[in-house]
Amino acid sequence: MAKQPEHTFTDAAHLGSPGAEPWTMVNHPVYRGSTVLFPNLESFYRAYGQRYEENEYIYGRLGTPASRALQDAFCAMENGRGSVLTSCGLGAITTALAAFVESGRHILVSDAVYGPLRTFCDEELARLGVATTYYDPCIGGRIEDLLRPETKIIYLESPGSLTLEVQDIPAITKVARRRGVLTMADNTWATPVFFKPLNHGVDISIQAATKYIVGHSDSMLGIITANERCHAAIRRTAVNLGQYAAPDDVYLALRGLRTLPLRLARHQHNGLRLAEWLAARPEVRRVIHPGTARHPGHAIWKRDFSGASGLFSIIIEPCTAQALAAMIDGLRYFGLGASWGGYESLIMPVNPRTTRTAAEWREEGQLLRLHAGLENVDDLIGDLEAGFARLAQARR
Ligand SMILES: *Cc1c(COP(=O)(O)O)cnc(C)c1O
Repeated sequence: MAKQPEHTFTDAAHLGSPGAEPWTMVNHPVYRGSTVLFPNLESFYRAYGQRYEENEYIYGRLGTPASRALQDAFCAMENGRGSVLTSCGLGAITTALAAFVESGRHILVSDAVYGPLRTFCDEELARLGVATTYYDPCIGGRIEDLLRPETKIIYLESPGSLTLEVQDIPAITKVARRRGVLTMADNTWATPVFFKPLNHGVDISIQAATKYIVGHSDSMLGIITANERCHAAIRRTAVNLGQYAAPDDVYLALRGLRTLPLRLARHQHNGLRLAEWLAARPEVRRVIHPGTARHPGHAIWKRDFSGASGLFSIIIEPCTAQALAAMIDGLRYFGLGASWGGYESLIMPVNPRTTRTAAEWREEGQLLRLHAGLENVDDLIGDLEAGFARLAQARR
């Protein structure tokens, strides 16, 4: 875990800051607005004469200096050609896919992908004549066997949602490049602080900024960063679909970015401490955390990532619904709810059995997804310890 890029903290603190002429506040203001006014016809014609790729300051929907700053910061951190903002993370995924598929095409999607994306593929893309094949997230270079002449995109998410399989991204992008297929990766878990997909051959990187970038569970935002080959098409489709990021959310993402590496270091620390403690508990069958040596994807994670965020899962011994409720309902610091990446700890029962189609989930026992927040880790351990005591009590 020694590969922390040298300038990460400096980049997060300074990228996308307002310029300094003739004076400036440290932060961009919240730019609210629809209409952009021009001082005269000459500047009006000049602005409208450009394509929207070149000039977003002609209408509120197309961008503001603050949204541009956030895009530029992400583009620099991810080594992209450009970034595009969307209303939420799911909007980033669907917009990026929509930019490249047409009727008759085929896409490959990891079986451990974020659930609502499966619904999009099965209900919307299928309706538009785009076929989806779900593949085993651990397939690596053997993905070549699943390629068809009409395959357009390989979609990756590493580690996978709920079950945290680490994908061999370089092996997959190597095949994709050779066969002329695009690759798209959901990088929400790692953020560009711990992994930069474009540096590993991925064409398009997706960030649900709702999670760690905003970091305080108070807004929704998506970011798509792409290389030279893909950026212009994504910007075009995002504009045509009416994708838009609200001014408050852009402001909150820029603000979150400043402390992102610092928060992630703490999420990582707390997550690893919890994982270690949980692994020694008799109630726990298995801890699923890529940063622990026993995780099957640990070696790949260590090779490609420079850190682990605070999201991981555990499998506890099978128990009744009442016993699980006794444990979870009484927790003091762990909130019960979806989403993650904020400052607070979360826990949630999940069931991959109902969604997986390529790689069957055979584990017995209850899968729980945890998010390690920024609290004192000993308080979190104490909270879980009391929860396990209630679980044991309810079992009797
Ligand atoms: C939450 C999440 C998304 C979707 O982001 P929203 O902003 O909630 O739409 C996409 N991918 C992953 C991995 C997520 O966890």
